[in-house]
Amino acid sequence: MDVLRPTALEQIYAHASRSYPEECCGFVFADGSVYLGSNIQNELHRKHPQMYPRSAANGYTFSVADTLLLNKAFRSDNPVVVIYHSHPDVGAYFSAEDQDKALFMGEPIYPVSYLVVDVRQGQALGAKLFAWDGEHFALKPFNDLHTELSMNAVSFPDILVRVAKLPESTLEVPDRHCAKSLKTSAAATRSCASTCFTRKTTSSRNISCSPPARS
Ligand SMILES: [Zn+2]
Repeated sequence: MDVLRPTALEQIYAHASRSYPEECCGFVFADGSVYLGSNIQNELHRKHPQMYPRSAANGYTFSVADTLLLNKAFRSDNPVVVIYHSHPDVGAYFSAEDQDKALFMGEPIYPVSYLVVDVRQGQALGAKLFAWDGEHFALKPFNDLHTELSMNAVSFPDILVRVAKLPESTLEVPDRHCAKSLKTSAAATRSCASTCFTRKTTSSRNISCSPPARS
């Protein structure tokens, strides 16, 4: 989904991490902008525990202001296209509760997809997107580096190790000076670090170089 650009996902993941151990909620507009909502589930649970047995640890309800904004957006030329919320420590899946919240008489209340963020110990690991397929909410692939990495259990250091193990002939080494100095000494590496970092922008292959130290 095009609206879920990396900058939008970063904002959503940061919101999910900040809100931990509670669920966060919000939405994404058609232009890709993100609105960080307010989860009033704790307030509802405190006032009416029987009507709202879930707290914000395992439930979310948008504030009245958020709900008004959401509804108003559907009458504008920049409608909401994704509603997101987080699942602390239980994984990203579309729960029965999520489905109840999204449907009325078996039909979607809003013409949106739902993004569920997987947040563990305060860290957002990825997300899954669910879209209505005419019968139920089905998993919909989208371009999310975080999710791909966590699902494949691959971390950045692993990737670096794999690339480093590739035969030398398969690697482009655009800067001979840099490659040589990396092999020789740490001091030499530091001396070319800023050059390498500049070159990194033009060649993603040159991954062994570090950004220059901040002063
Ligand atoms: Zn949920």
